[in-house]
Amino acid sequence: MAALFGKIQIGIYVEIKRSDGRIHQAMVTSLNEDNECVTVEWIENGDTKGKEIDLESIFALNPDIAPEEEIPQSPETPPPPVSSAIKINKIPQNKNRRTVAPPKNETPARDNRVTVGTTRARPSQQTEPPPSAPIPPPPIQNQTLQQQNARRKSNCVKEVEKLQEKREKRRLQQQELREKKAQEVDATTPNYEIMCMIRDFRASLDYRPLTTADLIEDHRICVCVRTRPLNKKELTMKDLDVITIPSKDVVMVHEPKQKVDLTRYLENQTFRFDYAFDDTSTNEMVYRFTARPLVETIFERGMATCFAYGQTGSGKTHTMGGDFSGKNQDCSKGVYALAARDVFLMLKKANYKKLDLQVYATFFEIYSGKVFDLLNRKTKLRVLEDGKQQVQVVGLQERDVKCTEDVLKLIEMGNSCRTSGQTSANAHSSRSHAVFQIILRRRGKMHGKFSLIDLAGNERGADTSSADRQTRLEGAEINKSLLALKECIRALGRNKPHTPFRASKLTQVLRDSFIGENSRTCMIATISPGMASCENTLNTLRYANRVKELSIDPSVVMEGRSAGHSLSQLDVLEAQWGVGSSPQRDDLKLLCEQNEEEVSPQLFNFHEVVSQLVEMEEQVLEDHRAVFQESIRWLEDEKVLLEMTEEVDYDVESFATQLEQILDQKIDVLTELRDKVKSFRSALQEEEQASQQINPKRPRAL
Ligand code: ADP
Ligand code: MG
Repeated sequence: MAALFGKIQIGIYVEIKRSDGRIHQAMVTSLNEDNECVTVEWIENGDTKGKEIDLESIFALNPDIAPEEEIPQSPETPPPPVSSAIKINKIPQNKNRRTVAPPKNETPARDNRVTVGTTRARPSQQTEPPPSAPIPPPPIQNQTLQQQNARRKSNCVKEVEKLQEKREKRRLQQQELREKKAQEVDATTPNYEIMCMIRDFRASLDYRPLTTADLIEDHRICVCVRTRPLNKKELTMKDLDVITIPSKDVVMVHEPKQKVDLTRYLENQTFRFDYAFDDTSTNEMVYRFTARPLVETIFERGMATCFAYGQTGSGKTHTMGGDFSGKNQDCSKGVYALAARDVFLMLKKANYKKLDLQVYATFFEIYSGKVFDLLNRKTKLRVLEDGKQQVQVVGLQERDVKCTEDVLKLIEMGNSCRTSGQTSANAHSSRSHAVFQIILRRRGKMHGKFSLIDLAGNERGADTSSADRQTRLEGAEINKSLLALKECIRALGRNKPHTPFRASKLTQVLRDSFIGENSRTCMIATISPGMASCENTLNTLRYANRVKELSIDPSVVMEGRSAGHSLSQLDVLEAQWGVGSSPQRDDLKLLCEQNEEEVSPQLFNFHEVVSQLVEMEEQVLEDHRAVFQESIRWLEDEKVLLEMTEEVDYDVESFATQLEQILDQKIDVLTELRDKVKSFRSALQEEEQASQQINPKRPRAL
């Protein structure tokens, strides 16, 4: 036997060659005389892996341990391909393959088969450093055989045999389970074929998910993605999970496609972000890498924003507000509350304690371009901009908060106010943005502000061609605000002089958070994993990708846009209303120019008509209110006049003059109001026509 195995011994390290060509070290764990091979083991990405390798291959790579006379090291006789003679046992150390923590400083193996999508995918690596060292003791291949202690050797053999036995048993159990599961789904899954393709693809990947041991990087703009598990409804519909998150920053979408001959195949699209959270990530984990680093910003006199962006039902509220499943909502585990908790912790630190900061919170909702205070019975608030471009939400309640408990109470209060009278929480929240702010003040003066936003469902941006006006207007506002948000964040990254923040209420209200040296932002794009959501998911990922994509040529963007838009009745209206070139409309124009791909000329026209409409609506309401007040005064004056006529010797002349004056005034004011209402009505009609002309292909969900 000694002659057969040369200097190979259990416990020594040898070089091995993997099927993908990589060469690294592994420990010999058993010698198998019968089939003239050895079993080796190594650790890779936290998993112990092992395989059997024939002696010839071992000696080819490790000539120093070969029996000299038997294995000639001739370059003409290369070793047989390792893959043909191996059996790989993958032994997960954790029941969930996606949460296996790899040893630190390890370079993971990358799969070469990853199809690179539209974005920067991690390049595959041909030459890899060896995986980290397996179980101690440290490498001993330099020791001679004689130095080995015989007793230790036999103990080692026993240990390894025991381990092997256990492993084999586990492997068999797992295989049985897998086979059983495969049989179960086989009969009932409509997309069984696709499911198998995805499963095979996943089996070929090396998983190295984000762990708490990973470095929290410092980003001015951080963009990340979170997927959730399939929910009950999706499971009932037998939807498939088409999302794979193989590493800490990569998201893959397996999009089922069909060839002309009806054969189905997978198109795997790969995206890269700052972080990618898989369906096992907790809110704490997401918070740790996204919002938590921003808490310090507001103590350092900065502005911070954190957005949850995605399709309705993808997990925005779950992430920001906390787990609302079941009867009891647990808002203590949402990003709002976790951020508040850390603000109060940070407040106690010596260097911040001396600043004597007070903490306040606001909670409001933006719905169809209007602001409602969630801490004050949903009172509608006005947004004003002063001469210095300072935006104010007039009358917004800022509540004094002393501890996390206080904040939780406010969140609960706001949430119940937000959804009150709604048939479903999602029906309403899909159409509104919720903004929760933590404000630090020093002797009344703003020190820092953290805005946490649960955005409206991005699929709503496509509602602009709905048959229902209310839905259309809401859709237009959502479409606009999500485009504007993207531009504002991009401008933040590029220190651009002008940002089209006025194009939407959302960006207008958050304006102060997008300017200044010390502003930071984070976007959590949430995605639904189901195959049924594939298109929305891809749209979400593309949007998130563009938020941080920094290279764009503005000269190309500006070209060809203006010609596409014909002059319309709007110009006539502009003349009448005198609001033609409002800052809002200028910003809208800029916004559409910057997003030519998503905004067709027809949609741009629609947006213009809608923003005109919204401005007109505000004016009509304001004027009507003024006329109403005036009418009360007229009534009082008329009453005095009438009372005067009761007198025996009243002045008829004066009565007639005064009455005529009142009536003239009334007619003037009412005529003006009536004309405004008339053109408002024609604007409503124009809106309807404009909506019908929107290219049906556009807009897609943003
Ligand atoms: P959105 O606010 O984007 O419309 P929700 O946060 O309301 O979506 O999530 C939709 C459903 O999915 C809810 O029932 C929620 O509890 C569940 N859900 C969302 N994210 C997760 C997650 N990470 N883990 C488990 N369930 C989740
Ligand atoms: Mg929600």
